[in-house]
Amino acid sequence: MKADRHPTYYDDAKVSCACGKTFSTGSTVKEIKVELCSNCHPFYTGKANLVDTAGRLERFRARMSRGTKLAQERKERLAKKQAKAAAEAKLKVAAPKLSDDSDDAK
Ligand SMILES: [Zn+2]
Repeated sequence: MKADRHPTYYDDAKVSCACGKTFSTGSTVKEIKVELCSNCHPFYTGKANLVDTAGRLERFRARMSRGTKLAQERKERLAKKQAKAAAEAKLKVAAPKLSDDSDDAK
């Protein structure tokens, strides 16, 4: 090899995965950080596990819970409205007529 032409090659570059596994390999970079490795990738594990990268899963769950919360509130409002309407309808039936013609026969 020509001198000063090639990058330094590390025979024991340390690779650390987000799942906690570390192993060494050959590389021109001394330390490598990865999000997936053969220890945790669904292709190798056979399990459909969700890999959370940069809080995307967390944000998705927050969005989903917000949606269900809004739906719940809407449901409650509708129930309240219906109860109020039912109470008003009941009141209308129970209330006596204001313009009663029977008073004229006195
Ligand atoms: Zn891993």
